[in-house]
Amino acid sequence: MGRQFFVGGNFKMNGSVDTIKSIVNNLNQAKVDPNVEVVIAPPALYLLLTREHLRPGLEVAAQNVFDKPNGAFTGEISASQLKESNITWTLTGHSERRVILKESDDFIASKTKTALDHGLGVIFCIGETLEQREANQTIEVVTNQLRAVAKQIQDWSKVVIAYEPVWAIGTGKVASTEQAQEVHAAIRAYLTKEVSQTASDNTRIIYGGSVSEKNCNELAKEKDIDGFLVGGASLKPAFVDIINAQSS
Ligand code: PEP
Repeated sequence: MGRQFFVGGNFKMNGSVDTIKSIVNNLNQAKVDPNVEVVIAPPALYLLLTREHLRPGLEVAAQNVFDKPNGAFTGEISASQLKESNITWTLTGHSERRVILKESDDFIASKTKTALDHGLGVIFCIGETLEQREANQTIEVVTNQLRAVAKQIQDWSKVVIAYEPVWAIGTGKVASTEQAQEVHAAIRAYLTKEVSQTASDNTRIIYGGSVSEKNCNELAKEKDIDGFLVGGASLKPAFVDIINAQSS
């Protein structure tokens, strides 16, 4: 069986009650390819509102999760709290958290493991900066980010890997189809070599970084691109075109 196309929408710290309701209504009414798994990640404050209004079959993700079960961790949300609230996915390792909040590979791996242990799906984000790409370190960087998680988890069936070159996020500079495919293939090769053939065959590897309704169809044709993680464009009606990129 092939890998199911997966499209995530990361709203980041955007939206209000009104705008989120309107995005959700738009998605509820849209003609969404039933073969695509769709997950949207609003800010934490709007997770419950989103879950309440979003139609069944479309899932909700947190943008972050903590790696401890409960306790004195002001401002954090646990995996079990998300699970109890029917928030079935979480992002981990988004570059904005790696870069701005200085989250380390090990901390991200620990959060990923905790989320999986509580039955959440994880959209695990990796990617290189422009400086690292220019120094030809892309594969080394993403491999190190992957290895930190591979050391802590065995079961990859609920992990979606999002390859998001940092230089392409929110910049309008999308990776070329060749650049994206090359890194996706290297990630898959890593899974074959270091994890298992099953993980390599079944794990969705999605691309993120300035994906739009204009560039999604070309990217979706690539062999190892199994979907998208979409930031800015997920707030717009054109998100539906990106969801349907494979079938249109
Ligand atoms: C993201 O935040 O994960 C992202 C890919 O953002 P954008 O689509 O805006 O580049």
